Amino acid sequence: MPDDGGPSSSRDNSFDILFEPVRIGPVTARNRFYQVPHCNGMGYRDPTALAHMRGVKAEGGWAVVCTEQVEFHYSSDITPFIELRLWDDRDIPALARMADKIHEHGGLAGIELAYNGMNGPNLYSREVPMGPSHLPVSTFSYDPVQARRMDKTDIYNLRKWHLAAVKRARLAGFDLIYVYAAHALGFLHHFLSRRFNDRTDEYGGSIENRTRLLREIIAETKEAVGDVCAVPVRISVDELLGEDGLHVGEVEEMIGLMADLPDLWDVTLAGWENDSRTSRFGEEGEQEPFISGIKRLTSKPVVGVGRYTSPDRMVSLVKRGILDLIGCARPSIADPFLPNKIKEGRLDDIRECIGCNICVSGDFTMSPIRCTQNPSMAEEWRKGWHPERIRVRGSDKPVLIVGAGPAGLEAAQSLGKRGYTVSLAEAGTELGGRVVREARLPGLSAWGRVIDYRKGQLHKLPNVSVYFDSRLDADTILGFEAPRVVIATGAVWRADGVGHRHTRPIPIAPEAKVFSPSDILDGRLPEEGPVIIWDDDHYYMAGVIAELLAARGLAVTYVTPASEASTWTRATMEQAFIQKRLLEKGIAVVSFRSVDAVGTASVTTSCVFTGRVEELAAAATVLVTARLPREQLALDLLARRQDWADAGIESVTTIGDALAPATIAHAVYAGRRYAEELDGVPLGDDEVPFRREITALLPR
Ligand code: ADP
Ligand code: SF4
Repeated sequence: MPDDGGPSSSRDNSFDILFEPVRIGPVTARNRFYQVPHCNGMGYRDPTALAHMRGVKAEGGWAVVCTEQVEFHYSSDITPFIELRLWDDRDIPALARMADKIHEHGGLAGIELAYNGMNGPNLYSREVPMGPSHLPVSTFSYDPVQARRMDKTDIYNLRKWHLAAVKRARLAGFDLIYVYAAHALGFLHHFLSRRFNDRTDEYGGSIENRTRLLREIIAETKEAVGDVCAVPVRISVDELLGEDGLHVGEVEEMIGLMADLPDLWDVTLAGWENDSRTSRFGEEGEQEPFISGIKRLTSKPVVGVGRYTSPDRMVSLVKRGILDLIGCARPSIADPFLPNKIKEGRLDDIRECIGCNICVSGDFTMSPIRCTQNPSMAEEWRKGWHPERIRVRGSDKPVLIVGAGPAGLEAAQSLGKRGYTVSLAEAGTELGGRVVREARLPGLSAWGRVIDYRKGQLHKLPNVSVYFDSRLDADTILGFEAPRVVIATGAVWRADGVGHRHTRPIPIAPEAKVFSPSDILDGRLPEEGPVIIWDDDHYYMAGVIAELLAARGLAVTYVTPASEASTWTRATMEQAFIQKRLLEKGIAVVSFRSVDAVGTASVTTSCVFTGRVEELAAAATVLVTARLPREQLALDLLARRQDWADAGIESVTTIGDALAPATIAHAVYAGRRYAEELDGVPLGDDEVPFRREITALLPR
């Protein structure tokens, strides 16, 4: 079958199948690339930024581009999380703007109508949450609120509200209107699952009864819009809880009861943390065994996800009859132009998702989505950044970048694309800085894609020269005569215990065997246990070091002042997986305890509540606390400010970890920001460096 047109001469024919149109009820997807609904932390607060973000996906070739979950009635809000709302007609324009942006670039717009029911404590609306049964609301924060059991009137009302939202969604211009029954995140999933549904009426008990509400709602939705819009159903085929939860056998039976009722089946795992595992805990295509039987049950197209970035894998999924449409959330975030790049045969330009879930942390922290690989994510309208385009250079002045970590690499490739002459000097012999070494840690190999993409881009830029084995000092830089100097020299881990808890170095006996993560990354490891790992960093590093040392047969105890290991990774949905892995590897996790001093054979710890002191045996201690910027070079240059003019230097700018250590995503963003702003119009004194929307005031 032909694709949707346009030149694609260099494309490998074997990918043609991915560019076949797919009929979804009354609408036709131009190809098989389908951006499934995904949250982004912008929602109702940042509607125009969100509309532009989705529009760029359509521009990049996605045939279908969906919203995140859209609350369809005020009686179920998901505060504090920031999603979209379609509570009444006043919400239509924001959604219409998004649909328009998607249509502008030839995509189909999909909307995921959601009613969280017993997942939402209704902190904003203060309505009493409802669900199939009397149960506490099921939230990450264990809110002290219960949902009440819906009676027949409630069910009738809910169907009415859903229908009203369907009509509004159609008015807003959406082409696909979802019935959402997945992820244990809404009333329909709750009705399906015996875990949540203890009803004895016609909506509980047998599979036929538990699916009744879903079938009624699909039928009503189809009747309202079926000749104009497609009606996909999103359902979770397994909760990974065995017989206690929904499981694939049961869900296949459910789908069998309504196989051809919707226009599309969108199949996932539940909960969200199982569906969007990080690369540390799940391979590409992890879901495949669970979804591979669905197409047998229905004549309607099936879409599913699996952090798919490999076009060969995508082709195989279609050819083997597992999926009709390749569903992507994260791969579309990391590379909104993934479809077009495959179409144009530009496989080496694909910015592959690394599976870190920094994107998810935007939703969990109620802040605009950010992505380690794609620094333009959520900045399309706020800052006018584009994932593929960047404006041409504003001058002919060359740039010297010192340090080829993620910050330096991103600055080099972005400046290179702007057309600047760039010299990238690296003390070592490899590109990638911290990522080179961290990607060797257990489970983090996919992080190397941060380097792979940028290395590939640099190869294509003759105006960027890379110098290895080049540890630059102030003299060399002054002699280099580059008008613009960027210091991206990174950071080193501290070994003095300073972190979140101790803002001053802790006492360490001179003979104590103390290691920092920098030592571990350099291959200097403790040789004998017991080893105490003090995690006052709270992201992934202490956990992966614990895994590494346990795998070498050392007895490891993991001490944290928090309630749990790697507590910040709740925001990347990894915490439970990390703690499980540590425990299964025999690593003791000691919570609510502070390491206050390190001796030669033990560490002194105290309870963070009572201060009660306890010694823990330690032949070696790994202090995972904080980092210090490698700022000496920047300071040396600053001290030589009077020599800059003679050396032709106009500016010296420190970026990334060398300025203030943070995540790899922060470093990549810093590199991009430098490149975007070079030779730009300087900001006025009170000017905010990004666009934002302000709530319109109603008359007093
Ligand atoms: P970031 O995350 O900010 O990009 P990294 O620590 O990952 O920082 O990378 C910093 C890179 O800078 C490392 O590869 C390091 O070898 C290099 N580097 C540090 N100091 C110098 C220097 N004086 N000259 C050249 N390269 C340097
Ligand atoms: Fe992938 Fe990480 Fe980007 Fe999310 S933040 S899309 S997981 S690279």
